[in-house]
Formats: sequence, structure tokens, C-alpha cells
Amino acid sequence: TESLYTLLESRFPADRTKVLLETDAGTRFTYGEAEAAATRMARALADRGVKAGDRVAVQVDKSPAALFLYLACLRAGFVFLPMNTAYRPDEVDYLVGNAEPAAVICRPADEEIVRGIADRHGTPLVLTLDADGAGSLADAAAEAPADFPVAACAADDLAAMLYTSGTTGKPKGAMLTQRNLAANGLDLVESWRFTADDVLLHALPIFHAHGLFVACHCVLLAGASMLWLPGFDRASVIRLLPRATTFMGVPTFYTRLLDGDDFDRDVCAGMRLFTAGSAPLLAETHEAFEARTGHAILERYGMTETGMLTGNPYDGDRRPGSVGVPFPRVEVRIADDQDRPLGRTEIGGIQVRGPNVMKGYWRLPEKTAEEFTADGWFRTGDVGRIDDRGYLFIVGRAKDLVISGGYNVYPKEVESVIDELPGVVESAVIGVPHPDFGEAVVAVVVPAAEGAPDEAAVIAHCKAHLANYKTPKRVFFVPALPRNTMGKVQKAQLREQNAALFA
Ligand code: ATP
Ligand code: MG
Repeated sequence: TESLYTLLESRFPADRTKVLLETDAGTRFTYGEAEAAATRMARALADRGVKAGDRVAVQVDKSPAALFLYLACLRAGFVFLPMNTAYRPDEVDYLVGNAEPAAVICRPADEEIVRGIADRHGTPLVLTLDADGAGSLADAAAEAPADFPVAACAADDLAAMLYTSGTTGKPKGAMLTQRNLAANGLDLVESWRFTADDVLLHALPIFHAHGLFVACHCVLLAGASMLWLPGFDRASVIRLLPRATTFMGVPTFYTRLLDGDDFDRDVCAGMRLFTAGSAPLLAETHEAFEARTGHAILERYGMTETGMLTGNPYDGDRRPGSVGVPFPRVEVRIADDQDRPLGRTEIGGIQVRGPNVMKGYWRLPEKTAEEFTADGWFRTGDVGRIDDRGYLFIVGRAKDLVISGGYNVYPKEVESVIDELPGVVESAVIGVPHPDFGEAVVAVVVPAAEGAPDEAAVIAHCKAHLANYKTPKRVFFVPALPRNTMGKVQKAQLREQNAALFA
């Protein structure tokens, strides 16, 4: 069998009394306890009619039990389908209708609403799990014997289905196979040198690839341990970092950590690795972090559909603004609109290939066909260039590309120029419909508390450093950019707000 669970199990410590995770309240769970909990949950779900290959949709608060539920699904060959905890009933309804799971696991407080949704879509089973690991799923598992075989899986069988973040449109279900997750997990655990001695401080949500696959697979494949927080809480992270060796975060975690003098070298004394991803890490944050702690954050790049694609090297230069080089099992190329590979330093679409790339989008065969080239490369939808040292730089998303007066404007380039200005914290550049230019460049700027420039100053600065067609026609100031829980800037929202600007 080529199941991910079999691979993970083969890497678990021989001594199953080793601690897998410890919560912030100090409760510890050993590898043996995690295995037993997963086995009971698998058995409880199977006894209630869930079969290998069925989707199990999950919208629960982060808890050790939620992680064991993931392991239960892997063990039994159920397809784990986590949902963003922030999704409202309409969004859950859409996903449940789309995925047609055999079971939905939800928070006890949502049970009534979720039962209505499940009934409407013909999902027979609804069970609950709360933040403390209690609920009807836990009750069912407690009564079930810790006896359920590891399902025999083919490499191509689905292990999980994750919906993309919905940054550029409606979330799409990415069908991830046993091989996809195994290959990517091995790439990361090897590239980032995880060992059984590692302690990962886990503060990410586990409904997304970053916190679930990137973080947990590194730990499980190394037989390492985790300090487990229900979410990012600055004080808790600073309190627990001295006991950790590794930490993974979205860029906003790092800016928040830097926001106070109590985060310093001493706090990080036992750390060997900080990684960042899910959204661009500002070069400024990278530099400030290194100056403060002596650690260069290792920025990596990936997506739901493919897992992790590139990362800055463990040894060697971790370059601010770059997402590094391809992981060993991944191929990356830059291509033009006709899928012709481009040379070094040329800007084009980022395309990838490897055992990590998903099987396809769930029930979207046309969309799947659209995103794969004739020769089997997956179009990431991101635009970038590879420099002469082989490092990838992301220029933006294809959908964020602004075409003004027939010229391509890469928002990232303009944002970088604006961000250099003293008194600017960060910025987002978007295209807004314009009667003459098709689209006009517009900048949304977050000013610093002091010394913020005005609109004219931002425009003058851009004019001095950029061609006219790249210079924003208008600049707006906002206290903060709209972001989702993964720290992704919601440009679609900014475009919508400014849609009628030049009408
Ligand atoms: P959707 O596909 O639904 O529009 P999404 O692309 O934001 O949403 P995810 O799969 O969660 O959904 O995110 C992957 C995207 O996140 C990548 O395609 C890339 O644009 C961005 N990303 C991830 N890591 C980085 C990084 N280190 N730097 C810049 N962008 C990154
Ligand atoms: Mg995407």
C-alpha cells in the first residue's frame, strides 16, 4: 500500500510514549495516544457508514482532537475535507453541496444549522467536536474499540480535498492524493532538516495546507514534537518560543512578533528555523527580523493545488524578496502565454510539475484541463522570474496584472517603489476600469503613524522611479489592507470598492 498513513506510521518513534503534542494548558498527547484516538475515530465513522473514498467535511476549532480526526481519515482512506472556521452558513452550504461528503463534523454550536445543510444535500451523518475535543464524535469514538486497520491505498487515491483560499474567485476543491502529500512532506522534512529532536511551535490554523500539511507532516515524518496553540497569540508565542526549535508563520505573524521590544534574541535562543509563506513576506520584515533575532526567515512558496514548490535554502542565502529554489521533487519553469519556456530573468507564468501536483479540481474538469498545459505542467496563476542564480521571484498573480493603455503593469513592482517611501507601511496596487486606458493603476497605501506622505508625494516618487504608465493615477490611504486569515491581501475587494472611480 502506498498510503500516506503507512508512511507516517513507519516514521513514528519506536517508543510511542514520546510526546507528539502539548497544548498551551500543558496537556500532553503521546504518539501512542494519537494513534489510538485516530483508530477509534476511524472505527466510529466507519461503523456509521463512512467508507474509504468518502469525503469527511470538517469545520471545527483547532484542537488536538481535530488533528487526530485528520489522522483517522488518513488511516481509514476517508478523504479529509477541512473548511475554514470563518466560513458562514452560506459558504458551508456551497462546499457541502459541492463536495457531497458522507459526514460533516462541526462545532456543537453550529449543529442545528449544519444538520439543515446536510439534510438539504443528502449528507447522512453530522457529528460534533468542540475546542476541548468533546462532542458527539468524541462520544462515539470513546465507545468504539481502538481497532481499525490501515486502509490499503493506491498512490493515486485521494487523501484530502482542500478548497483554495478564494483570493481570486470562488474556492475550488483541489484533489490531493496519497502520493501528492507524501512526496511534498518528504521534500520538506529533508530540506528543512527536521529530526526527532525538533519541537515545532504550531500557531497556524489547520484547515489550510500551511498549518495542516506543511507543519504537521514535517513533525510526523520526523517523529518530532509540537507545542500546540489554538491560534496565533503574540504573548503565548513569546512565552513558548524558548521551548521550541522551529516555527512556521504567515507574514503577519512576523510583523506582529516584531511589534514590541519583548521579542528579541533571548526569546529565540533555542530556535534553529523560522519559515514563512502563504503570502509575500516584505523584504523589510525579513531584514528587521534578522536584525532583531539573528535569524533569516526561510521564505517558501506553494499553493493548495501543489503543496510547496520553492523555498530559500537551508544552507546558503535566504534572500529577502525571493521565494528561493525548487524543492528536490519539484520542477519549476517560467513560460509565455503559449506555454513556451522563457529564459532566465524573463517574466512569465510560473508553471510546475512533479509528484506533488494535484490530480485535478473536484468536479471542474474544464477548469482542470485549462490549468494544465499539453505537456503536463500546471499553471500556478502566479507570475514570476528566475534570476541567474536560479532563485524565483514572484511578481504577482496573473489575475492581478494591470493592463493600462496596452502596457503590462506588475503591481508588485509599483508596490515595492511605494513601500520604499518613508512613512509608508505597505501598499496594494490594483487596476481599476478606466475609459481611456482600459485599466488605470491605483494604489492603496497604509501610512505609518508619523511622517506619512500625501497623494501627490506618492505620485511624485513613483514618477521619479517608474515609467508613466506604471505610476498610480490615484492614491488612497487606509488604516490597514483587507486580509483573510492566512494574511492574503484581498485585492478583489479593493477592486470592487474602487470599481466606479473613473466611470
Ligand atoms: P484562489 O486560488 O482560490 O484564488 P489562493 O491562490 O490565495 O486562492 P492558496 O492556495 O491558499 O489560495 O494560496 C496560494 C497562493 O498564495 C499562491 O498561488 C501565491 O499567489 C500565494 N503565495 C503563497 N506563498 C507565497 C509567497 N511566499 N510569496 C508570495 N505569494 C505566495
Ligand atoms: Mg490559487
